[in-house]
Amino acid sequence: MTAIQFDPIRLSAEAQALRTEVRAFLRQEIDAGIFDPLQGAMQARSNAEFSRKVGARGWIGMTWPKRYGGRERSFLERYVVTEEFRVANAPVGLHFTADRQSGPMLLKYASERIKADILPRITRGECCFCIGMSEPNSGSDLFAADTRAQRCEGGWKVRGTKLWTTGAHHADYMIGLFRTSAPTKENRRHGLTQFLVDMASPGIAVNPILNTLGQHEFNEVVFDDMFVPDDHALGEIDMAWKQATSELSYERSGPERFLETSYLLFELVRVLGSSPDVRGAEGIGRLVAQVHTLRRMSVSVNGMLEAGKDPTLEGSIVKDMGTVWQQQLPHKARDLAAFIDGDAHDRERFDELLAYATAIVPKLTIQGGTSEVLRGIIARGLGLR
Ligand SMILES: Cc1cc2nc3c(=O)[nH]c(=O)nc-3n(C[C@H](O)[C@H](O)[C@H](O)COP(=O)(O)OP(=O)(O)OC[C@H]3O[C@@H](n4cnc5c(N)ncnc54)[C@H](O)[C@@H]3O)c2cc1C
Repeated sequence: MTAIQFDPIRLSAEAQALRTEVRAFLRQEIDAGIFDPLQGAMQARSNAEFSRKVGARGWIGMTWPKRYGGRERSFLERYVVTEEFRVANAPVGLHFTADRQSGPMLLKYASERIKADILPRITRGECCFCIGMSEPNSGSDLFAADTRAQRCEGGWKVRGTKLWTTGAHHADYMIGLFRTSAPTKENRRHGLTQFLVDMASPGIAVNPILNTLGQHEFNEVVFDDMFVPDDHALGEIDMAWKQATSELSYERSGPERFLETSYLLFELVRVLGSSPDVRGAEGIGRLVAQVHTLRRMSVSVNGMLEAGKDPTLEGSIVKDMGTVWQQQLPHKARDLAAFIDGDAHDRERFDELLAYATAIVPKLTIQGGTSEVLRGIIARGLGLR
């Protein structure tokens, strides 16, 4: 049986020094009214000017080679930047996807021409990406994807529909998963290819889908004979299944996977005040101990990825446990604050954030891989299936 292995990794002195720098920058932006952390907790967070400033600081694509605009810093330094931006609810919507997964995908699989053109623009905070994987009949089971790319002169013609595409209405590019040939008898995962799609191409319609709160975050994206040039195919044709690499572990194990509703914990501490009763103190103590443990696990996975290990099992555990923790947080916060009046303004703000967090936590089970699917991966990793 495979053992679960979380290496005891600590953030380096460089990473901790960077934290001070990032906090000072965020404080400056908040004081200048560029964003409001509490409003940021409750609405889509995108700001082109902010993304450009973050790029100028060198905090987008910061682990990438310098020749593509990166800074060749460590993944644990990137971890600190992500963590601070997440806790501050900073408006990172325009650059986050490109920084976390699309850029690394291009680095590995794109042509030199595309890398030299697009990666520096990402690092400057000028280029927004979306992820085109899910479809009406293919979500967890990505290998059922049926949006077809057919060979034509000089490239491919794409026809079909992607669904739940976050940020497609802002995106300059998509990394899309398309069917280039049928699955084979021996391998049902065969036949899919990843492509770089220029969202300004003719033949693309982006139709908004509103979430349960009426906000526009994701979309339906319809391709009607959209042309993609040959050199926009990423990696080997038909072999996308082989390209499931460490990006997925980064996607699942980052601090954004357990800090999305952290504002509720901070507001709970504020409402309970500086001398909470035993029940309040014990409740806060448990929540903080749990999130601290999650954070240690998340740092560990990122350190293991940096060391070239494959912590798929551990990354899935972080995402699943992070989801469970975040989904319990509103219930616990409501319970612990039930009989506390405190400052009326603090209480009003707490109630508003509590209502918002309660409304959004169901989606956490779904985004980035559903809990059931992750548990299947964990069971397989443990040799149980
Ligand atoms: C906020 C948000 C943002 C998103 N952004 C994007 C995006 O940018 N790009 C993108 O491509 N997609 C995005 N998605 C889509 C998301 O990745 C899919 O919704 C997800 O993969 C689930 O697919 P589905 O909705 O088709 O559900 P299904 O796959 O049909 O699952 C339905 C239920 O069946 C369960 N299930 C399915 N297969 C198994 C199995 N093998 N074992 C056990 N249980 C199983 C699931 O856990 C789930 O409970 C986003 C989703 C959300 C909520």
